[in-house]
Amino acid sequence: MKYLITGGAGFIGSHLAEALLKGDHEIWIIDDLSTGSINNIEHLKTNPKFHYTIESIFKEPLLAELIDRVDAVFHLAAAVGVRLIIESPVKTIETNIGGTEAVLRNAVKKNKTVLIASSSEVYGKGNHIPFTEDADMLLGPTVKSRWSYACSKAIDEFLALAYWHEKKLPTIITRLFNTVGPRQTGRYGMVIPRFIQQALKGESLTVYGSGKQSRCFADVSDVVSALIKLVNLDKAVGQVFNIGSNKEITIENLARKVKQKTGSSSSIKYVPYDEAYQEGFEDMQRRVPDLAKINKLIGYKPTKTIDQILDGMISYAKRSEVSLRGA
Ligand code: UDP
Repeated sequence: MKYLITGGAGFIGSHLAEALLKGDHEIWIIDDLSTGSINNIEHLKTNPKFHYTIESIFKEPLLAELIDRVDAVFHLAAAVGVRLIIESPVKTIETNIGGTEAVLRNAVKKNKTVLIASSSEVYGKGNHIPFTEDADMLLGPTVKSRWSYACSKAIDEFLALAYWHEKKLPTIITRLFNTVGPRQTGRYGMVIPRFIQQALKGESLTVYGSGKQSRCFADVSDVVSALIKLVNLDKAVGQVFNIGSNKEITIENLARKVKQKTGSSSSIKYVPYDEAYQEGFEDMQRRVPDLAKINKLIGYKPTKTIDQILDGMISYAKRSEVSLRGA
């Protein structure tokens, strides 16, 4: 099959590209490198079935041409990371909504399946744990810019579902929960790469808030194989699926684990949210997916434990440090 990945040089996009190439598919990626990196795809460039274009998806004639070449589109291009969202809310809203509009508008002309990467952020502050796909969204007020991300992703979902219902464009919505693994950067605030870097450099591990908030971390390889299975399933069309892990860990315990696994003597520093992000910042206390729906359709179960994930990410971080020093 032939696939287009928007945001293909990003952390998840590059793992998806790698997995599709392993399956002998031909792929095209488009990425403007706003949060992605050319280093993420360096190792794929020699594969004759890999094609890349460094450009914005807002270049619509180009986007249209790429969509024309493929059987289906994975739409991953988006503004990501809580830090980026708070610092650049305009870019976040415009990229997320405008980008999805552009992809759907062009896909419908050729009737190409579109799989949308949405986010567990759309559940907002909901506290009916675990979150089922049909749960209510509970978002904070518009004066708190964090919620603009959840809202922009919710609009993406509405739009993709509207294209299916009104124009019969096959669309699939995936809500990704905290997805982690090698090549993820801490630059946009993601906690695990930040803790690993801090521990390796001997800096304090910055736990925001009380550290009692929890998350469920899934390995990118598990997430990517689910995306690949879903994109070809007729039964997935017009549906929303949670993807991630349902094993919780508090951020405080995560910091302790990273410290122990890296053998670091770093201390753990508690930073109030107001200082870490912005005044009045609201965090989710828990975020756990109900995985029954995706499990029923494709037998999905996350296979990697947090210990395996951390071991993999720590050894990747150490290897990259060595190669950077050698460069
Ligand atoms: N976090 C933290 N220290 C950091 C970065 C993040 O304690 O240096 C916390 C953050 O406040 C949140 C959790 O770790 O409660 C996960 O943050 P991340 O940005 O990775 O993902 P989120 O779940 O917020 O999208």
